[in-house]
Amino acid sequence: MSSSPRRGRLFVVSAPSGAGKTTVVSRLIASMPGLRQSRSYTSRRARPGESDGVDYNFVSRERFESMIAGGQFLEWAEYSGHLYGTAVLDTDRELEAGADLVLVIDVQGARQVRRHRRSSVLVFLLPPSFDALETRLRSRGDDAEEQIRRRLETARQEVAAVPEYDYVVVNDDIDACVERLRAVIVAERATLDALGGEAASILASFGVVAEGR
Ligand code: 5GP
Repeated sequence: MSSSPRRGRLFVVSAPSGAGKTTVVSRLIASMPGLRQSRSYTSRRARPGESDGVDYNFVSRERFESMIAGGQFLEWAEYSGHLYGTAVLDTDRELEAGADLVLVIDVQGARQVRRHRRSSVLVFLLPPSFDALETRLRSRGDDAEEQIRRRLETARQEVAAVPEYDYVVVNDDIDACVERLRAVIVAERATLDALGGEAASILASFGVVAEGR
């Protein structure tokens, strides 16, 4: 029997701005053992209430670009004029310790993760409708009209990528949405691939040798 911990899995969550991903993912993480959220690097400035090393690792554009040149990102993308990326080392450290990791990243980043890590699971969080998203963005009341129109246009482009994702979770109600996302993770943790060595050793106790599919 192997004594090394099972390697964690990568879960990617993408959603348009205003779809409620921050709330949903933080509630999920708080209530699911063995699940962590990856901390991205970004070249954008911290917003009020955000802090370095908590919400993001805030770095200069120059530092970010030198990290790209040094091959330090699993994925990175430019979004609204700022650079965002997930560091390979941070990711591997968590996965090797056996934690499952949630990456809350945009569609461009999700595609790169899928390319480099075939077994990653891609989840798209959808608002219940375009109108509902517009209402939510307006009710936040912290964006100018022009900004809201830009976010809605970006949302149209992002939603067009939904067919590339493995799961779609609609955020019509936060509690229900968290439960659906939890169900995705529970199911993915029960696949034969995810169980890996654990399933193999149980099968071995029956005298059955697990064969790859
Ligand atoms: P915000 O500036 O509002 O925090 O994030 C803007 C967008 O960047 C969101 O869609 C968010 O999911 C995405 N994002 C955050 N971190 C990363 C990352 O590491 N990589 C990529 N590709 N996108 C990210």
